[in-house]
Amino acid sequence: MPEQIKVTPGEPKAPPPSVSEKIQSLEELQRLKAALDLEIAQKQLRALNRDEAKADEEAAKILMEEENRRALQLSMMAAHRKRDRELQAAQLSCPHEKENKKTAIVGLRDSQNHYIFNCQNCMKMWSEADCPPHLRPAMEAVGGPQY
Ligand SMILES: [Zn+2]
Repeated sequence: MPEQIKVTPGEPKAPPPSVSEKIQSLEELQRLKAALDLEIAQKQLRALNRDEAKADEEAAKILMEEENRRALQLSMMAAHRKRDRELQAAQLSCPHEKENKKTAIVGLRDSQNHYIFNCQNCMKMWSEADCPPHLRPAMEAVGGPQY
């Protein structure tokens, strides 16, 4: 009996790829690369959209703050004008007298000996020159700095 030779099956040597196989794997690679490029592009687009959304949000916030500030400013100006008008109306209709018909105007003398007068009813102010003479308080009643 001839000696048997054990042949262990090794890795079968793959035959070299044929041209059509090479073309196929090249096409596969190109397909993978295109898919990868697409994925990268989509990721970049998503990041860009996120950034853009964030910037839009930020801009909207700034715009809203600006509008709120402007609205507050306008309402404060309107309130100020209303107060001015009311004060002016009160001063125009004020007799600058107390109920006992005595003057409601009081005076103050400053350190330069200038006088300033104002009505305790309506807060209207006068200088020495324009204070109505018949309503001017008695000079001894006008206080000033004590030396
Ligand atoms: Zn008055």
